Amino acid sequence: MSPTSSSRPAAPRIVVLGSLNMDLVLRVPHAPAAGETLLGRSFATIPGGKGANQAVSCAREGAQVRMIGCVGDDDHGRALRQALERDGIDTEALRTDAAEPTGTALIMVEDSGQNRIVMIAGANAGVDLDAADLRTRLEGAAFLVTQFETPMAQVERAIALAHEAGCKVLLNPSPVQAIAEPLWPKIDTLVVNEIEARTLSGLGADSPLEAAAAGQAMRARGIARVVVTLGARGAVAVDADGARHHPALVVQAVDTTAAGDTFLGALATALGEGQSFDEAVRLGIRAAALCIQQPGAQPSIPQREAVLRSPLPPDWIPL
Ligand code: ADP
Repeated sequence: MSPTSSSRPAAPRIVVLGSLNMDLVLRVPHAPAAGETLLGRSFATIPGGKGANQAVSCAREGAQVRMIGCVGDDDHGRALRQALERDGIDTEALRTDAAEPTGTALIMVEDSGQNRIVMIAGANAGVDLDAADLRTRLEGAAFLVTQFETPMAQVERAIALAHEAGCKVLLNPSPVQAIAEPLWPKIDTLVVNEIEARTLSGLGADSPLEAAAAGQAMRARGIARVVVTLGARGAVAVDADGARHHPALVVQAVDTTAAGDTFLGALATALGEGQSFDEAVRLGIRAAALCIQQPGAQPSIPQREAVLRSPLPPDWIPL
């Protein structure tokens, strides 16, 4: 199906296991150096966290999403839960931990659009899977989408359960750490940025050609598909047919927070709808381009309708 088509396939079911953070966003002319006191431009409190952002991106692309995670028993936790519910996301499996504060991210956005982030896991460290419930939810779901902002033991359990249930796994190994060897063949689609690609493959990923080689090296460990995102240079898609460079759209970056999460949600939903890998990557490129033209994490994630109205990226280039 072409991403420009107006007819919509059935909504795929996607289970997201991941973090929820309240983002405390400081807009600054530039990041302060050690010892420097700087007059910032503005402060805002915005729902974020990789897990929640990816859940919101899937939902705004039209997927039926269930979120698994943990928030604190505080105002930020309640606001994050409500934000997901406003997007129609099922929060029944979202736990409240009375002992820990909701996860927090202090995000400094420079005038250039670059960001610097300090994260406090808080309640995200208390994610505790209900295996029976998760197994039921994974049966018939198109994807389990997960990242590394919740405890590794829970992520590994969820991936194993998804594999047993015949549900494909889309992993975004961020913040990057080693992926245990037995997990690799249980992953269907791996989405990494340049830094993650470099760490996991041990190879450079500074150019599309290098990213293709890094992607091939990771695929050789048992994964069907790898996407290496390259910021303003777009993304490289690697599968059994080889590697393709998908150039990004040329846009003015206001705030790149959640660009990768937006990309991933569009990719996962399109794959769940049965679109081809390359069409799904193109949709991700278009969605991410809209995201970076708006400030904040969740407020900047576009709806599918807006993505379909946005410009088409240049054709992909075989590598
Ligand atoms: P992450 O935020 O996870 O590090 P990237 O920076 O690679 O991920 O961005 C993810 C996607 O967002 C890219 O593949 C690209 O499509 C889009 N993107 C990011 N920055 C830009 C930019 N400056 N211009 C156009 N597209 C961008």
